[in-house]
Amino acid sequence: MAAKMTATARRWPHVGRIVAALAFMLAVLLMPWAARAEEPVAPPLLERLTPAVLAEVFPGATRVELVADDGPAAAAAFVGEAQAGYVFSTLDVLRAPGYSSTPFDVVAGVTLEGRITGAVVLFHREPYLINDAARTARLVAFLEALRGGEARLGAEGGLPPAFVVGATISARAMRNAVQEGARMVLRYRTEEITVTEPTIDMINFKPMSPAQLVEDGGLVLAHVRNADLQAAMDAAGVGDLLPEVPMTGGPDATYVDVVAGYANPPRIGRNGVGLEPYDTLVNGMPEGTMGIFVATLGGVYDHRGTRFNNLSNGFALDRITLEQGGRAYGFEKSDMIPARGKIADILILPLEAGFDPMQPWRADLHAAALRPDGTRVPFVLARLEYALPAGYILMPEVPPRPAWLEAWEEGTRDIAILCASLVLLTGILAFQGALTRRRRLYRVLRLGFLSFTLVWIGWIASAQLSIVHLVNYLKVPFADLDLGFYLAEPLIVILSVYTAVSLVLIGRGVFCGWLCPFGALQELLAQVARALRLPQWNPAERAQRAMWWGKYLSLGLILSLVALAPEAAPVAEEIEPFKTAITAIFVRGLPYVVYAVALLLIGLFTERAFCRFLCPLGGALAILDRLHLLDLLKRRPECGNPCHLCERSCPVKAIERSGKIVMAECFQCLDCMVEYHDDRRCPPLAQARKRKGRAPAPAPAGVMPPAFAAVAARRTPSA
Ligand code: SF4
Ligand code: SF4
Repeated sequence: MAAKMTATARRWPHVGRIVAALAFMLAVLLMPWAARAEEPVAPPLLERLTPAVLAEVFPGATRVELVADDGPAAAAAFVGEAQAGYVFSTLDVLRAPGYSSTPFDVVAGVTLEGRITGAVVLFHREPYLINDAARTARLVAFLEALRGGEARLGAEGGLPPAFVVGATISARAMRNAVQEGARMVLRYRTEEITVTEPTIDMINFKPMSPAQLVEDGGLVLAHVRNADLQAAMDAAGVGDLLPEVPMTGGPDATYVDVVAGYANPPRIGRNGVGLEPYDTLVNGMPEGTMGIFVATLGGVYDHRGTRFNNLSNGFALDRITLEQGGRAYGFEKSDMIPARGKIADILILPLEAGFDPMQPWRADLHAAALRPDGTRVPFVLARLEYALPAGYILMPEVPPRPAWLEAWEEGTRDIAILCASLVLLTGILAFQGALTRRRRLYRVLRLGFLSFTLVWIGWIASAQLSIVHLVNYLKVPFADLDLGFYLAEPLIVILSVYTAVSLVLIGRGVFCGWLCPFGALQELLAQVARALRLPQWNPAERAQRAMWWGKYLSLGLILSLVALAPEAAPVAEEIEPFKTAITAIFVRGLPYVVYAVALLLIGLFTERAFCRFLCPLGGALAILDRLHLLDLLKRRPECGNPCHLCERSCPVKAIERSGKIVMAECFQCLDCMVEYHDDRRCPPLAQARKRKGRAPAPAPAGVMPPAFAAVAARRTPSA
């Protein structure tokens, strides 16, 4: 039978590839069905808001009332008689899809001030959360940590999505849906001002005293004492003269307190000069007129003086000038909008003045000294450096960093570790000829790499590639999902790309033999089993061929369910014990743990039994393996006839009696290559070595020399 199949394969060398291509096309054709997102039907919001849910999402709310408007669906939450915020469902507002592409339902609350009050998941189909109590508990804690945070996509605070290890895409999608949903609910119902470029806030107003304005930076204060006046006069070289306005009191007595600031924001201008003068500025002047608020709060001096009333002085307000970017601005009486009852003015600047209120500027307070002959010597008494505080400028909403970018930035260290390990693996595969000539070195290298794969890739980084990832990637072209959504798992993306490239070049063995944490766990346990000399069992070649179909059947079952009955697919996906043994590290429900342990126990007696006969991901990779371009594993004419050394050394029995390697079943462990290069064990090499030493007569063609038979019959230790 085996001979017949081999002959068929020889006659139809491309049949495997054609079948693989057809199978792959069939899988792709199924994907539009699979990509149809399940449309969950939820009961009305108020029915979902049970007292327990309401207590979680809006603590303290005494009742909720559905809001009857055209905005995003929401219920108003009341504390007593006063409305305190809104409660909404991400399913109603956004229908944001999860990792499974089925929209989840997270109910959340937001205060009128824009703070999240709580969030609870009511429904999801996230594959890495279903039936996983430990990870679900992490998700609950992750959503709880949103409480008190800003209702804005990209708001800081809370826990990082990586907290829900192994389900970061789901966690990130739910967090973003809560923040964005809350924003949408509020934006529709509050008078929120949105701008597209930095704009001075001309809307917000609250009564503020000069002291409060000085405190928040809206005004800048110059407190000039008599000592400061004397210092300014000394600096101007008129220290021996008398000031035009005499001092009273000692050196620490206040000579003048002056404030200045940009007058157009109502919190500054309206509080500074009162409603009527402020109205003159913003409504009674040509469009674009700007105002500088200046007020004297105390002291014997003031910013006005009297000379601005004099024609002889040109009505110039010579006690105040402005400077911005090297340009000076002066004012006249006609530029003043005075306040009633206080020494406070708005000094106007027309649009053409070229003044930029968003840039820093300086107000100079001038004074004069009197010479004995009565002539004035002006000098600068104080300089008031000013910059409009950020609180008076409305900024356009900063688009949040894309979720995938956030994940890549946060995962830099892990990405570096994984990439370094992939470089090492590439080196091992590239220099496999030299490495497999050194049996001990190669053995250490392989066991070390498998341990890294299990412990770091699997248990620490939770980067176990699984059939769920493959199905989701196949859905991408057909699902209405942003590709960035899938890029948000950097380690999985890198592993997927590396696996895809290595699959096309070398075959499925690069992933299955080196990068699959569950595969590594099985192989490491098999090493222990061998060390303990546990009996090993492998099916006969024909039975094994039949059993290989198991993995294709499990793959077919999962793909069919994903396409036809998505609600049942997560159950079938549990064929893979990865979630239990790798991402949850056996902290899961008993049935899952029993199943995973049973598979591992079977693997002690039949190496990688799960990989060979049941793994759906292995099945998918084995189908695609038929397309690989390079054959790295070498063969000699003697392989299979008369020698069977490599065949016996292959731990997964991927070498046929004929000596041909079934690449779809090969795990690239390179054990056979270690034998291939061993001139003490590989009979043709051993014979050649002996010939070199003793030059014996060659054995007749087709006859296996006794040395061959003895070596080949021996059960060989694994590399
Ligand atoms: S067959 Fe499955 S479990 Fe085995 S190594 Fe490949 S993907 Fe991992
Ligand atoms: S022994 Fe050779 S044929 Fe067998 S799995 Fe390893 S590399 Fe593949």
